[in-house]
Amino acid sequence: MKPVEKSGVDSRLAGGRLTIDLDALVANYQALKKMSGNARCAAVVKANAYGLGADKVVEALWGVGCDTYFVALPQEGFAIKRLYPKATVFVLNGLHAQSIDSIAEGNLVPVLASIEQIELWARYWQKRGSRRPCAIQVDTGMNRLGLSVEETIAFRARNLKEHLVTPMLIMSHLACADEPSHPLNAQQLESFQKVASVFDDVESSLANSSAIQSGDDYLFDLTRPGIALYGGDSIEDVVNPMRPVITLEARIVQIRDVPKGETVSYGATQTLERDSRIATVSVGYADGYPRAGSGAGVALRNAVDSAAHGSIQGHKVPLLGRMTMDLSMFDVTGVPDEALARGWIELIGRDILLDDAARAAGTIGYELLTSLGHRYERIYVSNG
Ligand SMILES: *Cc1c(COP(=O)(O)O)cnc(C)c1O
Repeated sequence: MKPVEKSGVDSRLAGGRLTIDLDALVANYQALKKMSGNARCAAVVKANAYGLGADKVVEALWGVGCDTYFVALPQEGFAIKRLYPKATVFVLNGLHAQSIDSIAEGNLVPVLASIEQIELWARYWQKRGSRRPCAIQVDTGMNRLGLSVEETIAFRARNLKEHLVTPMLIMSHLACADEPSHPLNAQQLESFQKVASVFDDVESSLANSSAIQSGDDYLFDLTRPGIALYGGDSIEDVVNPMRPVITLEARIVQIRDVPKGETVSYGATQTLERDSRIATVSVGYADGYPRAGSGAGVALRNAVDSAAHGSIQGHKVPLLGRMTMDLSMFDVTGVPDEALARGWIELIGRDILLDDAARAAGTIGYELLTSLGHRYERIYVSNG
């Protein structure tokens, strides 16, 4: 695998190394596109493409024909439109009086979430004697964002008479797509089918990563995967079919031998039960590696089965004591010297899956990815 670009901190100086496999990203997109059947497959690249770097992610996906993107905020959309003016970029969080000028000038498509937002967009273009497409968000049961089903159907009738706006997409979002057997999925599907049948000349979209894997009924005209593109697990109790995209490694800065009975880190919360060898690495919670994954002595620790682990050439090594801001300690007792001599511990990657690392910190892969810090050397790799 060849590095195609490096960014972030100089490799000689960085405490952590984040490798992003663009070939795996592209393979995941192609797999999701295939699962999307006749529906078009967009990419959700909000929050800097879940922390991986929206510029590089969009460049890779654009290269394989993905021309439709979803972001949360206008700023995230401008960056894409600057590079790819022909891309269709939907702004999921809608618009308000202060953002409307920028959204319009930036040629972004706002996902309108209320009658007020629809009227704002309608008045804006009436004044200018022109029109621009929008998307409409329907809340079918998550109670987060969108018009109710009844409001949406009533709006359709009004729009046919008054020609307020020109919707190009009608969409909704599932609350429990990661639990395919949850009854709310079927209810939301039924509500959305009702809306989509009324908007029969407009593209419709319901499926995120997990819903794409839940059967054809959820696909509609356009799918919106996010986490699965980045290798995250999106469905409970099913083996993740996606390829891991990121590898996070931490540099070992010291190895020490410590006798049984001594304690490790702040608060002296973890007592060594045997003579131990400890590797201290220069990644801590300031790098977005969550403190809740500490070996002992933090609030969540007792609620989650096991502490975070690292891996050195296949040897799994547990975190010891409290993780600190810039440093974490791993128990490397028994790991062969040759392996230690390589100087790095994998925190997330092939051996330590993203979702296992997240689970050990009482969180989800989404939060772990979007928290990835700014002190890593970032290496984008590809054979292509
Ligand atoms: C974030 C988001 C997605 C992508 O969800 P994943 O679970 O990451 O695939 C799709 N649609 C909406 C409305 C979202 O907010």
